[in-house]
Amino acid sequence: PTVMSFDLNELVREIAELSAQRAKYANVVIETSLGDNIAPIKASPSEMQQVFLNLVNNAIDAMDPGGGNLDISTRQEGDTVLTLVSDTGSGIPEANLSRIFDPFFTTKPVGKGTGLGLSIIYGIVNKMGGTISVDSAVGRGTTFTISMPAGSPDD
Ligand code: ADP
Ligand code: MG
Repeated sequence: PTVMSFDLNELVREIAELSAQRAKYANVVIETSLGDNIAPIKASPSEMQQVFLNLVNNAIDAMDPGGGNLDISTRQEGDTVLTLVSDTGSGIPEANLSRIFDPFFTTKPVGKGTGLGLSIIYGIVNKMGGTISVDSAVGRGTTFTISMPAGSPDD
């Protein structure tokens, strides 16, 4: 995959567009709040697209049935660019939190989940020098935070 400098806000807009149809069908309202003057990040756009599509798909799954709100926001903190993907879904039980990034860990029925999404995301983000963390409350929802090192526009 080709690593290049690109604008995360642009990627988030694209993800929202790509997910609009599935979200609508699942009664999920997607909101984005994109920070101004965010530094570009240096990564593979297609891999980062995979990261966010996986997070959005997990979030929509977690709000089934009934739907809810999915919020994607970006902001810069020092030399880190943060993207938060937040849902109002089932939440993740404490006992599972340490296992969700493990390959093949899934709570979905056979045929619905492979348990590979988050482990793949974890690998991609780490390879690019970033981190991923999760904050969740059962019955309230879950927020995944992706932190990527800010690049300079001429990188
Ligand atoms: P899969 O989606 O195939 O189950 P993932 O690696 O993407 O595999 O996710 C692993 C598990 O983490 C899921 O089965 C689910 O239990 C939990 N999970 C991931 N994202 C969320 C979320 N947004 N809300 C609640 N649970 C989640
Ligand atoms: Mg998944």
